[in-house]
Amino acid sequence: MTYPIVIYGHLILRKVAEDIDNNYPGLQQLISDLFETMYWSDGLGLAAPQIGKSIRIFVIDGAPLAEDEPSLKDFKKVFINAHITERCGDLKPMSEGCLSIPNIREEVNRESHIRIEYYDENWVHHNEVFDGYKARIIQHEYDHLDGILFTDKVNPLKKRLLKSKLTAISKGKFEADYKTILPGQKVKSS
Ligand SMILES: [Zn+2]
Repeated sequence: MTYPIVIYGHLILRKVAEDIDNNYPGLQQLISDLFETMYWSDGLGLAAPQIGKSIRIFVIDGAPLAEDEPSLKDFKKVFINAHITERCGDLKPMSEGCLSIPNIREEVNRESHIRIEYYDENWVHHNEVFDGYKARIIQHEYDHLDGILFTDKVNPLKKRLLKSKLTAISKGKFEADYKTILPGQKVKSS
């Protein structure tokens, strides 16, 4: 099934998400729902807090960018209990967007290399290094687990210019082709 996407201003997007056990009820279903919701809303990644679940899971499929970034062709992954343990390399700017912040794109600086520990969908532990575009997408989704949004990371001038746009979004003044949950609305519990 697909979930509605939680929109900017909702408190659940600001919580630090928690690790889960490998007997978390309905884990495989949740993973497939995350992918389904992500594909349906044309995202490259989706984190559980964005569907109203404050747990440390996100999914990524970079295939839509494979034409420009061949390395992303088979970059389809599930990250459970993700923890970034190292970030290094030059800070590089790149334009980002987010399903929780419709119709906004801004340049964000991020480190070029990361090391991350996580479990995959088969509960196999990984400790891996990623760079380039992969590191960028992972860091964006990972930030959702720590209650951080990409608009927090734009420069102070841009941030000031964004303020009224973000307020409008949090009040539902935006167009999106997917179902959404606005601040103040209840997320589905299961
Ligand atoms: Zn996002």
